[in-house]
Amino acid sequence: MANSARFIWHSIIVGGGASGLFCASSYGAPKLLLEHNEHPGAKLAVTGGGKCNFSNLYVSKRDYFSQSKHFSHAALAAFRPQDFIHLLEEEKIPFDTLSNGQLFARNARAITQMLISRAKHNHTDIRCKTEVLKIHRERDFFRLETSRGIFYTANLVLATGGLSYPALGATGFAFRTAQELGLPVVPLRPALAGLRVPAPLKPLCRQLAGNSLTAAITLGKHTELGSLLFTHEGISGPVVLQTSLYWQEGQAIRVNFLPDIQVADFLQEHKKEKSCFSKILSSRINAKIVKTLLADKDVPAAEAKKDVLLAAAQMLNAFSFIPSGTSGYTRAEVTAGGIDTTVFYPATMECKRLPGLFCIGEALDVTGRLGGYNLHWAWASAAAAARTLAQR
Ligand SMILES: Cc1cc2nc3c(=O)[nH]c(=O)nc-3n(C[C@H](O)[C@H](O)[C@H](O)COP(=O)(O)OP(=O)(O)OC[C@H]3O[C@@H](n4cnc5c(N)ncnc54)[C@H](O)[C@@H]3O)c2cc1C
Repeated sequence: MANSARFIWHSIIVGGGASGLFCASSYGAPKLLLEHNEHPGAKLAVTGGGKCNFSNLYVSKRDYFSQSKHFSHAALAAFRPQDFIHLLEEEKIPFDTLSNGQLFARNARAITQMLISRAKHNHTDIRCKTEVLKIHRERDFFRLETSRGIFYTANLVLATGGLSYPALGATGFAFRTAQELGLPVVPLRPALAGLRVPAPLKPLCRQLAGNSLTAAITLGKHTELGSLLFTHEGISGPVVLQTSLYWQEGQAIRVNFLPDIQVADFLQEHKKEKSCFSKILSSRINAKIVKTLLADKDVPAAEAKKDVLLAAAQMLNAFSFIPSGTSGYTRAEVTAGGIDTTVFYPATMECKRLPGLFCIGEALDVTGRLGGYNLHWAWASAAAAARTLAQR
């Protein structure tokens, strides 16, 4: 395909991440995929700690957050986890299924490579080191200003993701472009991120950095249960990442470090013992964690006054504080918020106001829980756009 200023492409996909590559691999029309990184799929290759949690058997619209609760339904109904599994089986890429439905590839790079080669096979001209700088609507086509010249296309797929992990190529391009094209954007925030603690709690977290345990975190009506990891800045781990999906600046969270027992009752039952609380609880919770959390409340049970016992129990069962923030976009797995879905058709991802403009993946205001749901959204939204593009 000639790169002439007059040539109008059938379609151009901007962004060679999960959704852009999958879209390119899913329909046959000759098309261009523009990616500003040196290679496509940089983020995809490190997902799931290198094992790519590519989907979840139990995916449903309830696993997604968006201002339009039902938007994700049509695309999710039309593209099931089994559809992606089918591709992996065809390509003989091994994967594992966890009991909670999470699907992991053994090697994320195998998925990236599979998508690149399927995209090329499906007539995609992939051009890396090409940053798209600006998009203009001109009559019934789009004009793209890029770091490597001007391109024209009849159909444009915006697949540039969110702001998370700029080190892997994330930019605010989708949101800037939406605003320039007059499309609304739901406020953005880092999500699936660690939470930072206020200054007085930092020494405690530093002392415990690297230690983890199973905890429950309650925020308003939501309670999440899972692994919690102490870090130098605060808390992280799956239970915290899930909580960050709901958490808004200024809200208090309540952490239960011993969700299986009522600590006050348990300590009452042992109140005649000479051992300290931490020793009594050591069969239930990591000794270093309980000792550090209790600090001066870690006294021999037989000597403890009732208020000390209750304070120790509260510390372990209902530790409340207001996080000072999240770990930010540099460490957040996703960006919550995004381009408002109300201006897109849910079955095709095409813009109601600008025919020929499609938006897929994380750039839209659709954010999944931890567990393979965000990549599944990338595939499902890309498949929805590809079905329409295949018929143009
Ligand atoms: C460390 C980490 C681990 C994760 N693990 C998982 C997991 O195991 N399971 C899961 O479901 N989700 C996971 N996620 C989330 C998941 O990776 C994203 O939701 C998903 O990649 C979003 O796909 P996307 O195509 O919308 O965006 P991306 O995959 O981010 O792709 C966007 C692409 O656009 C390119 N781009 C941006 N601006 C421009 C521009 N102006 N011009 C040209 N190119 C541009 C970027 O370089 C990038 O390649 C993880 C995220 C991170 C950060």
